[in-house]
Amino acid sequence: MEPAEAGGGIAAARSSPAAVQATNDDAAASKLSCVTKGYMKDDYVHHFVRRTTKRAPIINRGYYARWSVLRKLMLQFLGAGNGGTDLKRKQILSLGAGFDTTFFQLQGEGLAPHLYVELDFQEVTSKKAAIINHYTEMKEKLGPEATISIEKGEVTSTHYKLFSADIREIPKLDRVIDMAGMDPSLPTFIIAECVLIYLDPTSTDAIVSWASEKFSTAIFFLYEQIHPDDAFGEQMIRNLESRGCPLLGINATPTLGHKEKLFLDHGWKRAVARDMLKIYNDFIDSAERRRIERLELFDEFEEWHMMQEHYCVAYGINDAEGIFDDFGFKE
Ligand code: SAH
Repeated sequence: MEPAEAGGGIAAARSSPAAVQATNDDAAASKLSCVTKGYMKDDYVHHFVRRTTKRAPIINRGYYARWSVLRKLMLQFLGAGNGGTDLKRKQILSLGAGFDTTFFQLQGEGLAPHLYVELDFQEVTSKKAAIINHYTEMKEKLGPEATISIEKGEVTSTHYKLFSADIREIPKLDRVIDMAGMDPSLPTFIIAECVLIYLDPTSTDAIVSWASEKFSTAIFFLYEQIHPDDAFGEQMIRNLESRGCPLLGINATPTLGHKEKLFLDHGWKRAVARDMLKIYNDFIDSAERRRIERLELFDEFEEWHMMQEHYCVAYGINDAEGIFDDFGFKE
């Protein structure tokens, strides 16, 4: 075995914050590719992409599945409890939010929760703040009393806050959710989409524990890679390592069972993990699936199956209020 593959230490040394941040540019470009092809609607993502690139059908389908499962679970969360209309009591916290535009989309649809908070490195939040500031159709979603500091990478408005934070610094997380005015007793949906897997496992453990201690009625949503040990997984790991963003967390949670255990070992009362192949086939609405499958010629079925088996969604649930009985994947 190459020493470089032997353990977290050397891989960690090769992990560059700039390269991890660049995965966000990649995600935004891929989402735009999907939007252009008609897979999904996002009226804002094009503001975050310098050059429109066309992705292969398999990449488009993968991003569609990722977008679709997050959206479906988030809408379940927003609809949970009190006849499902109590958006005033709901909060969303997005860790490593990148250029995600979900808040603006929800706001446009009248579905935004009471409070939506996003955190990322300052390099990313400054760019995001500048873009929000520049485009009227984004800025107006914040309301008249919004303040934007491009330098600090901060946006504060009644329903939306963007702050810079290194999410590995737990005391900073406490300060920032305080500053954002989050109420830990309210139902909270925490998003970590392709984020924790880039962190060393001790940081991930600390973040997952922190969130469980903090939020008594909450869903912690995770989307990330699994199965590092087969040929496809090894290639996936090499690709990201050579780009300077090794998946530092993947050997600590290599299977669905490990992802569930991550939550259960760190304070969460329930946990469920599924791979994206099963999610695509069994959870994403079949009418939607038929619609998007007609958008492009597609013949990479074997590759598709392998790829989707290497991504998963896992969530932890704390349900002090007892509003999440119907939440989650259904058989
Ligand atoms: N969640 C977004 C972006 C994913 S890219 C999406 O799915 O579209 C990963 C993001 O995590 C990047 O924007 C990167 O800057 C951020 N990130 C990685 N490590 C971080 C850390 N320690 N603190 C804050 N943000 C981090």
